[in-house]
Amino acid sequence: MKLDVNTLFMVTIYVEAILGLLLLFAWVQNTAIRAVAWWGFAHLLRAGSVAIFGMYGQVPDLISIDFANALLFTAYALTWTGARVFDGRPAEPVYLVTGAVLWLLVCRLPVMTESVDARALIASAIITTYTWLTAYEFWHGRNEALVSRWPAIFMLFAHGSLFLLRTPLIAILPWSMSNNVFGSVWLTVLSFEALLFTISIAFILLAMAKERTELRHRTAAMVDPLTGIANRRSFLHDAALLAKKHMAAPKPTAVMLIDLDHFKSINDRFGHAVGDRVLEIFADTARQSVRASDLVGRLGGEEFATVLHDTPSERAHAVAERIRLAFADATKNVDGHPICATVSIGLVNSHSPILDVPALLAQADQALYFAKERGRNRVEVASLDLVLQHKDDTAPPKAAAKSAA
Ligand code: GH3
Ligand code: MG
Ligand code: MG
Repeated sequence: MKLDVNTLFMVTIYVEAILGLLLLFAWVQNTAIRAVAWWGFAHLLRAGSVAIFGMYGQVPDLISIDFANALLFTAYALTWTGARVFDGRPAEPVYLVTGAVLWLLVCRLPVMTESVDARALIASAIITTYTWLTAYEFWHGRNEALVSRWPAIFMLFAHGSLFLLRTPLIAILPWSMSNNVFGSVWLTVLSFEALLFTISIAFILLAMAKERTELRHRTAAMVDPLTGIANRRSFLHDAALLAKKHMAAPKPTAVMLIDLDHFKSINDRFGHAVGDRVLEIFADTARQSVRASDLVGRLGGEEFATVLHDTPSERAHAVAERIRLAFADATKNVDGHPICATVSIGLVNSHSPILDVPALLAQADQALYFAKERGRNRVEVASLDLVLQHKDDTAPPKAAAKSAA
C-alpha cells in the first residue's frame, strides 16, 4: 500500500477537526460529562498542530516542527486531563503544558538542534508518557463498570508503546528521519497509525461518555436517591431473579416488612431534614445487619423490606431483632436530637420450593399490622396458626401473626 504523506495530512486535519467538533457537539448536548469537552478541544488542537506541521518547508522549522510538536503534546495532555476529569479527579494545569515547555526548552539545547533522532526520541517519550498516563487514569477508575473503558485502555497503551518503540525501530531499520522528513516511510506509517488511532479513540471516548450516561440513568431508576438502597421496583426485580435461583435450589427464606414507628411525629417535632437523616440511618442499619447477598429495599415513605435467602426461621428472627435494637441505638442522637426512633417488623418464613416475594410481603404486612397493634417497636412473625386464631376477628381477616418480640 502506498500512501502519500501530504494526502494523509489533509485527511488527518479534516478528520481531527470533524471529530473535535463532534465531541464538542456531544458535550453541548450533555454538559454533565465535562471530559467530552476536553477531548473535543484535544482533537481540534491536534488538527491545528498537524496543519502547522504540514507547512514544513514553507515556514521556519521553529514553527513547523518545534511549535507544531508543542501543540501536539498539549493536545495529548488535554486528552489525559479529560480522562482525569472523567473519573472525578482535578485537572492539573501545570502538567497540561509540561510536555510542551519541556520540548521547547530541549529544542534550544545546541546538542539537540543537530540530532534529529534525539529530538524524535524526546518527542516520542513525551507522547508515550501522556498516552500511558491517560490509559492509567482509565484503569484507575475501573471500579465503575464501563465495558468501553477496556478498549480505551488497550488503544492508549498500544499507541504509547508504538511511539516508545519508534526510536529503536528507526535505528534497526534502514530508513532514517534525518535524510528527508517527508520522504520517510516512518512518517507515512506513523501518520497513518495516528489517523487510525485518533478516529478509534474519539469514538471509544464518546462510547464511554454515552455508557456512563446510560449507567447513571439506569442507576437513578433503580436506586432510592435518599438512602442509596434499592427502590421498590429494583427490590422486586432482584426478588424475581432470586426466585428463579431459588427454584433450582430451594432454601428456607425469610421476608421482612419494616415500618418506622410514629415517623410523622419525628418529622413534625424535628423537621423533615432530620426525618430524612433518620431514614438514611435506618437504611444503613438494615444493610449492615444483613449479609451482602440479602436484599434490602425502600418500598416507599418509611417502609422497607428485606429478603434473607437460605436463612432458617430462628436466624431470621435474630436478624430482625438485631435491626430493631441497632436502629433504636443508632437514633439515640441524630444531629444533636434525642430521637430514639423505633421500628415495627412483620416477618414471614417460607419453606416453599416456590419463592413468591410479593405474596410473602402481603403476609409480612399482616404481621406488621399486628406489631403496630400490639404497641410497636416489636417483631411479629406471620404464622398459619394465627390465620386460624384470627379467623373471626374484625381486624384484617387474612391476618396471620404471632407475637415474637
Ligand atoms: P406508624 O407508627 O403507624 O407507622 O405512624 P407513622 O407516623 O410512621 O405513619 P404515617 O403513615 O402516618 O406517616 C408516615 C410519614 O412519613 C408521613 C410522611 O410525611 C413521612 N415521609 C414519607 N416519606 C418521607 C421522606 O422521604 N422523608 C421524610 N422526612 N418523611 C417522609
Ligand atoms: Mg410508620
Ligand atoms: Mg408507613
